[in-house]
Amino acid sequence: MTQAQDLLRSVFGFDGFRPGQAEIVEAVADGQPMLAIMPTGGGKSLCYQLPALMREGVTLVISPLIALMRDQVRALRAAGVEAGALTSSNTDDETAAVFAALDAGTLRLLYLAPERLASSERLLARAGVSLIAVDEAHCVSQWGHDFRPDYLRIGALRRSMGVPLAAFTATADAETRDEIVARLFDGVAPTLFLGGFDRPNIHLAFQPKDKPRDQILAFAAARKGQSGIVYCGTRAKTESLSAALGAQGHSAAFYHGGMDPADRRAVETRFAAEDGLIVCATIAFGMGVDKPDIRWVAHADLPKSIESYYQEIGRAGRDGAPAETLTLYGPEDIRLRRSQIDEGAAPNDRKQADHGRLNALLGLAEALGCRRQVLLGYFGESHDPCGTCDLCDRPPETFDGTEPVRMALSAILRTDERFGTGHLVDVLVGRATDKVRARNHDDLPTFGVGKDRTARDWQAIFRQMMGRDLVRPDPERHGALRMTQAARPVLRGEASVELRRDAMRTPDRPVARALVSDEDAPLLSALKAKRRALAEAQGWPPYMIFNDKTLIEMAETRPATLDDMARIGGVGATKLERYGSAFLDVIAGGAEEMHPARRKLAGRAAGGVYDRLLSVQGALTRGPDGTGKPMSCTAGTLRWIAERQPGSLDELARAPGLSAPKLDRFGAAFLEVCRDGA
Ligand code: ADP
Ligand code: ZN
Repeated sequence: MTQAQDLLRSVFGFDGFRPGQAEIVEAVADGQPMLAIMPTGGGKSLCYQLPALMREGVTLVISPLIALMRDQVRALRAAGVEAGALTSSNTDDETAAVFAALDAGTLRLLYLAPERLASSERLLARAGVSLIAVDEAHCVSQWGHDFRPDYLRIGALRRSMGVPLAAFTATADAETRDEIVARLFDGVAPTLFLGGFDRPNIHLAFQPKDKPRDQILAFAAARKGQSGIVYCGTRAKTESLSAALGAQGHSAAFYHGGMDPADRRAVETRFAAEDGLIVCATIAFGMGVDKPDIRWVAHADLPKSIESYYQEIGRAGRDGAPAETLTLYGPEDIRLRRSQIDEGAAPNDRKQADHGRLNALLGLAEALGCRRQVLLGYFGESHDPCGTCDLCDRPPETFDGTEPVRMALSAILRTDERFGTGHLVDVLVGRATDKVRARNHDDLPTFGVGKDRTARDWQAIFRQMMGRDLVRPDPERHGALRMTQAARPVLRGEASVELRRDAMRTPDRPVARALVSDEDAPLLSALKAKRRALAEAQGWPPYMIFNDKTLIEMAETRPATLDDMARIGGVGATKLERYGSAFLDVIAGGAEEMHPARRKLAGRAAGGVYDRLLSVQGALTRGPDGTGKPMSCTAGTLRWIAERQPGSLDELARAPGLSAPKLDRFGAAFLEVCRDGA
């Protein structure tokens, strides 16, 4: 086992690396400059935390969000790692403790807020920094949304300290990447790791809006008690949806940029600490959300682009346990998003690109096959049908829509591209409203040609046409539909269009996918209750004790001993010591008693060796013939032997507390155990 794997297991309690982590950890520990681009939840923090433990000296971590830094420091300390943060929200005592640990040379990771960089030069010069890790490295990009001017100091800092730098981000576009290389690495290309985009534990689903409030309420009702986010298009909607959810007995809050900073912080804190809070939010609820156990994300309105969609759903399920998403969309959303782009201040080519990104998202919304294939395809990755999206769950019924699409296009053209969906549908189904009569549209050849379909069917056809960018609402004509170039081949009969039928039916009430089987569900709740109690006692968010994935594994595998427990993903040595028995108690109603020295070896091969040493010692307590003076070794001695498994008497003699008489009595038997154990 490599040192990295060993630390992964013993400190973090993880069985294996996630994709990319092993290579990144190795390269960073080796001192290579590194730019790693990994999806949210890919496990970036581990990629600098582990090397920090493998290298001499202090690893300086620069991260833009104080709350995240404090979380990480707490999580590291909970895992027994000496880490500290210097931020503006420190108490004097906290700051003093960080300085003391720096002076004592015990600090392994120092988290620093970017705005402290300027004032910390002297401190850093004498801190013995041997590695700089930059989290959310895209904050160095002046063109991005998250630009942090203080990030521009990092390049100079690296130069003056002459230590390797590792930069991490989830933002992968080439422009941002180039900027990071220019500003953090002085233009010298670092080792690049480009992670895949797939988040296989996140279930994808879209639904056309149809009483959207009810759709969201039903989705939430099927997931009661689970933490979720509902992204809303407007501030007002965050408030009204939060109230509606509250009225249905959920614990819900709202969050948007118009609130007091203090109120916003209060929601962030509650969300992190509470198990099962729903936050209805605008996209202002974003980068600061680091909660790993968000079980679902719903979009009450269509996001603005496929990138935003990916980022927002990506906040779910960072712990790797199953998470679900639902995105609602309708013709109003499409109109709104198009006009936001058209009315924005961006130059024309930028607007075209933004329309393209919106089209990509609409293509995903109106997809006919596996959504993951479409989503990953946009990012340039191929994938087999995933089995964890709504369209894999239930393939949509499709039909040849060429004819109705041509009828709709004809209605648009014959009314001079001056009308919106409502009027066009009236014309198609032959409804002679006042407006229709006033314009003599009841005289058009198109009037009534579509009367074998319902108005609702036609709405769905128009929506899908907008989704395919065959028609676009014209902002200068109050959203009247105009035909695009893409529609010409259809009109000319040179291309056909396949449409979805199920998009026109009311979707069924969504059924929540359970995290565990019915049989294990009561145990999972009991484990969660224990977690909540422990978290409250410590003033921690529950996931910091153990995350959902860990509890699910406990509920499913029901470890009976601390050894079994140590094999559960997420149960590291420190957490095993602190909480192992408490959770075993819940599972079995009683944990085996274990000597603390033995407990330290739980789950490792050395644990078994320790047990055998103990048993041969038991057999030899009074010597081979059972008449000698009783003798035994301390737990500390046995642990030393179990951990080192010496191969000779000379080596064994170095065990602390193993006196000559004891060596005489147990030596040969202990060596035999060690030989078998190795
Ligand atoms: P990112 O910063 O890339 O979004 P994090 O570093 O916050 O992701 O990690 C997301 C979650 O995944 C955390 O809860 C973390 O504990 C967990 N995690 C990271 N690496 C592993 C691993 N190798 N095995 C299991 N869980 C992991
Ligand atoms: Zn799929």
